[in-house]
Amino acid sequence: MLNTLSTDVLIIGGGIAGLWLNARLRKEGFATILVEKHTLGGGQSVKSQGIIHGGAKYALHGALTGASEAIADMPRRWREALAGNGEIDLRGVPLLSDAHYLWSPGTIAGNLTSFFASKAVRGRVDQVKGDQLPPALQHAKFKGKVYRLAELVLDVPNLIKRLAELAGDSLLAGEVIEPIFEADKLTGLRVDGREIRAQRIVLSAGSSNAELLNALNISQPAQQLRPLHMVLVKGPTLKPLYAHCLGGGPKPRVTITTHPAADGQWVWYLGGEIAEADGVARDPASQIKAAQKELGDLLPWIDLSSAQWATVRVDRAEPAQTGLIRPDNAFLTDSGNLLVGWPTKLALAPDFADRVLATLERDGIKPGPASALSDLPRPAVAEPIWERLF
Ligand code: FAD
Repeated sequence: MLNTLSTDVLIIGGGIAGLWLNARLRKEGFATILVEKHTLGGGQSVKSQGIIHGGAKYALHGALTGASEAIADMPRRWREALAGNGEIDLRGVPLLSDAHYLWSPGTIAGNLTSFFASKAVRGRVDQVKGDQLPPALQHAKFKGKVYRLAELVLDVPNLIKRLAELAGDSLLAGEVIEPIFEADKLTGLRVDGREIRAQRIVLSAGSSNAELLNALNISQPAQQLRPLHMVLVKGPTLKPLYAHCLGGGPKPRVTITTHPAADGQWVWYLGGEIAEADGVARDPASQIKAAQKELGDLLPWIDLSSAQWATVRVDRAEPAQTGLIRPDNAFLTDSGNLLVGWPTKLALAPDFADRVLATLERDGIKPGPASALSDLPRPAVAEPIWERLF
């Protein structure tokens, strides 16, 4: 076994942040090694709903402050990548929906009327009716209003597969990570006993960033975890629906996305308020009951008697914020050769990569001599969660 490797950028963690960054760096001519401990995408990324937000949902509670927020540009950047003329080539990754919808089941409350009239959403939100409605809402009994957002929804398991292809031979399965310090400077990491020297090391290990920083004896940046208890429903009567159902509060009452299972059935994946505080406190059986009641109230014409149900618990990992406020930009901080961050959203992976590239440019890091990699143990790509649960 070749025990010492050298590369330009060593990335720890193969979720969306690490994988997108890896593809971007390789395209810019940098040599990279990306180390993954479990499966590629198997942390938060493959459990995400795949919505490429443009920020409209955040404007709902006044959090979108304008053009300074990177999120507003994300749908365009992802669309270009999917079309093959963006910063990385994501051609072949299926688009599950070209739009995400805002759905108000009753009459629009006062605060929402002003929201739809506000500058933040003008030109980005159109009301839809009749056969333009999402298939699951096309029913005589449907009442309410639906608005189309210029946001897209991606098939995340296939996105991860594509990013793993773009990684070429840069992927390494590795479990035990120890620092290599020289004259008090971090110059590399030992991964399962194999020394890897790099000009820069990026920690993009999601909720494990805290543990990795701890192992390096570094206390900042602090991390916050937001627990979620998501619900999955699979059944022959389900039709596609990609929508935030508005409650009246600042957060969607439920956010539904629809995903294709290998046997041809659809799976609905439920997030939003139902998966947060009260939902986190419920055990899986009570959480499923709560979801059954919610769907029964909102979509009574859909027969769910033969549906299968499951729940999944997962923590969102982010930089610590006061009051657990959600950041609307990716977060990256650096010290010496070490860069650490969280994209904070799948949609913001391009912003995360921008921040790393800006740091490399600021520090004058250029592609240098690198080891040729072959025959390294390669991590597998994560399975869709519904294939594991049903
Ligand atoms: P992760 O995907 O968690 O990846 C971290 C990786 O690091 C994992 O593969 C892990 O195995 C690996 N790792 C850990 N420790 C080590 C180690 N020691 N060595 C090597 N590798 C290691 N965002 C959106 O934009 N749209 C959405 O619709 C959306 N929906 C969401 C729904 C849910 C239920 C959740 C939980 C999140 C959602 N998000 C969404 C947020 C988004 O999923 C995350 O912000 C994003 O996936 C985080 O990516 P990441 O690469 O930082 O972390």
